[in-house]
Amino acid sequence: MTPSDLAFDRDHIWHPYTSMSKPLPVYPVTNAFDTTLQLADGRQLTDGMSSWWAAIHGYNHPRLNQAMRAQIEQMSHVMFGGITHPAAVALCRKLVAMTPAGLECVFLADSGSVAVEVSMKMALQYWQARGEKRQRFLTLRNGYHGDTFAAMSVCDPQNSMHSLYQGYLPTHLFAAAPACRFDDEWLENDADDFTRLIEQHTNELAAVILEPIVQGAGGMRFYHPRYLQRVRELCDRHNILLIADEIATGFGRTGKLFACEHAGIAPDIMCVGKALTGGTLTLSATLTTRDVANTISNGEAGCFMHGPTFMGNPLACAVASESLALLQENHWQQQVANIEAHLRSALLPLQDLPEVKDARVLGTIGVIETHHPVNMAALQRFFVERGVWIRPFGKLIYLMPPYIIQPEALQQLTDAIAAALVCPALFMA
Ligand code: PLP
Repeated sequence: MTPSDLAFDRDHIWHPYTSMSKPLPVYPVTNAFDTTLQLADGRQLTDGMSSWWAAIHGYNHPRLNQAMRAQIEQMSHVMFGGITHPAAVALCRKLVAMTPAGLECVFLADSGSVAVEVSMKMALQYWQARGEKRQRFLTLRNGYHGDTFAAMSVCDPQNSMHSLYQGYLPTHLFAAAPACRFDDEWLENDADDFTRLIEQHTNELAAVILEPIVQGAGGMRFYHPRYLQRVRELCDRHNILLIADEIATGFGRTGKLFACEHAGIAPDIMCVGKALTGGTLTLSATLTTRDVANTISNGEAGCFMHGPTFMGNPLACAVASESLALLQENHWQQQVANIEAHLRSALLPLQDLPEVKDARVLGTIGVIETHHPVNMAALQRFFVERGVWIRPFGKLIYLMPPYIIQPEALQQLTDAIAAALVCPALFMA
């Protein structure tokens, strides 16, 4: 990339959560392979982010590339209205077989946020079909579900964008975030606030929506499986749908294929995305029980009212099928267990450093929470100079590497974090 390309980028192209007038630096990547991102100047960075939870098999994987090439030779896209195709059927067969019991019907869409929109619209249509006006959602503080309007309305009201869009966003109900950590002893009163809200608002509630076990972008918190069990019990007792947003946690990231499995529960509606295509193309799926699907379909509209142009995109479906095959063949449990063992031994001792407020690890997710917010530009540069790609935010420095990462590369990532934590200039005092 030329200096003029970079100048054009700076002047004309939005990047996520970055100012157009005072943009943070961006690093030009020209190619990526295995767990390496190559910069335009030839430097190679070890990837600690899996491109935001997605690239679980690393980059430029020959099997994923081949699956895309083969599908391109057939067709890259065809509309899904009135048409079906082998790539969608093969993928949905796999999804129904691997997701928690009872999830039988699959709605394919383009991104995680859209899958969340779909799940919420499904819950609304479900109650409409049953002749009840239930239009509120109960969720947890510290949650994150995406950036579209319905998804935003159930993100944490403080650390997300609620205040910016006040008046446009419907007001939903927020229970206190679970305080009991994944490995803590379970405290019976942890779900008291949730219990109070579900009991007080039963007749208004269309569904509960939450991220199972791991609250991602809203704080990288890991909560107790008993909490999730309690939520399932309460939803059953009060006859309220449970939507599990597994967009970040799905496909092995937390040490189980789906995070709901830590609690042994199945939701009524589940959203998956991100790692679904192994990080190659954008695709998401919302799965429901037969009861949810039939109730919606037998309602006034006679169908679910959503149909994206690129629904069931064959290219994305074909590569997603191959990614799911690779997941099994690569023995993901062993890969995840190896990464988890390394992250525990390298990150948990950092807890003793003065800048560190907390260190935690679950599956392939390693988190360092600091006392002070990071100086984004300075810390990013520090990491790049050490040959690693780690993208912190707020007071969180975290890793979620591709499952294929080798021990030396993982060591490089954790060493870089340890080095950063003893540089006060990288944090806002
Ligand atoms: N839900 C969760 C739990 C997520 O972590 C994200 C993205 O980070 C989303 C939904 C939104 O997905 P997307 O960015 O693909 O729209």
